[in-house]
Amino acid sequence: MQPFVYHGLPSRVVFGQGSLSRLTEELEHLGCRRALVLATPQQQQQARDVLEQLGERGIGLYTEAAMHTPVEVTERAMRVVEELSVDCTVAIGGGSTIGLGKAIALRTGLPQVAIPTTYAGSEMTPILGETRDGIKTTQRTLDVLPETVIYDVDLTLSLPAVMSGTSGINAIAHAVEALYARDGNPVIALMAEEGIRALAKSLPRIASDPANAEARSDALYGAWLCGTCLGSVGMSLHHKLCHTLGGSFDLPHAETHTIVLPHALAYNAPAVPEAMARIARALGCTDAAAGLYDLGRSVGAPSGLGEIGFQAADVDRATEIATQNPYWNPRDVEAKGIHRLLSDAQAGQRPQ
Ligand code: NAD
Repeated sequence: MQPFVYHGLPSRVVFGQGSLSRLTEELEHLGCRRALVLATPQQQQQARDVLEQLGERGIGLYTEAAMHTPVEVTERAMRVVEELSVDCTVAIGGGSTIGLGKAIALRTGLPQVAIPTTYAGSEMTPILGETRDGIKTTQRTLDVLPETVIYDVDLTLSLPAVMSGTSGINAIAHAVEALYARDGNPVIALMAEEGIRALAKSLPRIASDPANAEARSDALYGAWLCGTCLGSVGMSLHHKLCHTLGGSFDLPHAETHTIVLPHALAYNAPAVPEAMARIARALGCTDAAAGLYDLGRSVGAPSGLGEIGFQAADVDRATEIATQNPYWNPRDVEAKGIHRLLSDAQAGQRPQ
């Protein structure tokens, strides 16, 4: 066995249908009495329900969370934190809302309870990406890792079917890259394979029956495992491409991950035979890259970047940006190969 370093992250995970009912108990466990509930405008009602449930421990609401954690949104939230003498945050939502809780924690040290309602995985990571004047900068610090995470499947039932599929494949992307990470280790590899298996099995069932609580539960379990992978080891080419496409071309996060993943994996395939075999086994197919493409089709996701606003004429500029300061990758990042990868992803071709 190769030598490795395993660094466990200190967070408490409460998982199960109806587990939101344990929120007050979890705040007590943290010693918190004045919680600010965070959400996006779209999830205001869920946030109000949580505030009501908290009774006297719920001190206020802030429901302006937005994609990519804009600094001006955080600064407005900070004024509320100060005015209300908040002693913790409760973020209910996807990566955008959890990002806001992290941004507040970075500035104040306040403990966080994260209640994820998508499969993006931010709740399990010590990573925060913030946007100032249109530029996103990402940092990794334990100061932003949520202390407590409550996974309650009931909260994911409202996630629309196609969004569930793309969000789940976004999670799978973390596990795929964890399987060939430079700083990977056998424990994270087990989580990665199990996370892919749980999501690949459940996502098509959710697509045809979004209210299926058992499939939803499997998907949320997979999302937890995949989020842990993202929080624990470094990511490579696929995540770099998606950050480029999200940051410079304003493409939607989960759809972009879903479309690019099979192509990024096909590019890396010659360098990572063991990871390819493990991913294929988890997907229950023979070719991992083609299997991921087919999974995208089975959940009704768009097949090409062209469908979400990325033109063939954008490929040159995207290649240039993505090959500047590349992340470590198991295969050399060469402009010609990346151009082809992005052209295939733009057109929505099945990887060969
Ligand atoms: P999101 O949080 O932006 O949510 C998308 C939309 O879906 C929002 O309007 C939200 O309110 C709504 N929504 C969420 N859950 C819902 C539900 N159950 N029912 C109905 N509507 C629901 O999307 P996301 O994909 O979860 O997060 C993307 C953001 O998170 C990006 O900014 C990304 O960079 C960040 N992210 C960060 C990390 C990290 O480790 N720092 C990891 C993953 C994602």
